[in-house]
Amino acid sequence: MARRSPVREDHVSVAPDGDARDRAEAGQGRIKRSPGYVEEVFEVIRADIMSLAIPPDTRISIDDLARRLGVSQTPIREALSMLEAIGLVTKRHFAGYCSAPQLNRRQLDQLYEARLLIEPFAARRAAEQMDDTAMAELVALADAMTPGESRQSYDKFADQDSELHDLIAAGSGNPIIRETLSRLHSHLHIFRLRFHSEVTTEAVNEHADLIAALTSRDPDAAEKAMREHIQRSYARVVPFAGE
Ligand SMILES: [Zn+2]
Repeated sequence: MARRSPVREDHVSVAPDGDARDRAEAGQGRIKRSPGYVEEVFEVIRADIMSLAIPPDTRISIDDLARRLGVSQTPIREALSMLEAIGLVTKRHFAGYCSAPQLNRRQLDQLYEARLLIEPFAARRAAEQMDDTAMAELVALADAMTPGESRQSYDKFADQDSELHDLIAAGSGNPIIRETLSRLHSHLHIFRLRFHSEVTTEAVNEHADLIAALTSRDPDAAEKAMREHIQRSYARVVPFAGE
């Protein structure tokens, strides 16, 4: 169920209008808001979109959200534009903000094609040159990932999975590869398609193979494990994609 508690506004110094941040950024402003405040609004709306409490392809009313969360329209607008930047929200003429539609089959295929080009190569490179500190971080993250039974833990798993794939992309040592992968926002789209614990159990086992190959510094095995993980992930979600 979506969280319905009002977002705390007590750590906001002043939020008089939507231009405050622009002025502050331009160096003319006297007003500073806690950056965590818009982030909190963003997280609540993001969770509602990910859990389908806000269904796909549905108009999002700024008034309703402001009322429900007990905040002004300004942070809602800022959060919505952040959500637009990551592809969960679209802005339409005359209709305002809408939740993004679920991926259709063709878009899902394209997303996985791109992942299959980028990520196995990134894993190969990471096996060769990821430093030991980053490798330890990766191992700790993989150990902390547990299959989600509830939606909340599933959300957490989606975030951790995104981070794990990002760490490997970063470990490739090629910032263009990392940036390209992050722009796909693949985890948001994939995890929104399906909520199920069995998905995460299988992924945990595949990650174990991947981490074993990376920590033994075996580029061939790392590339293969990543390719298999992505192919299996595709097989798990494709039945849930739209037409
Ligand atoms: Zn994964």
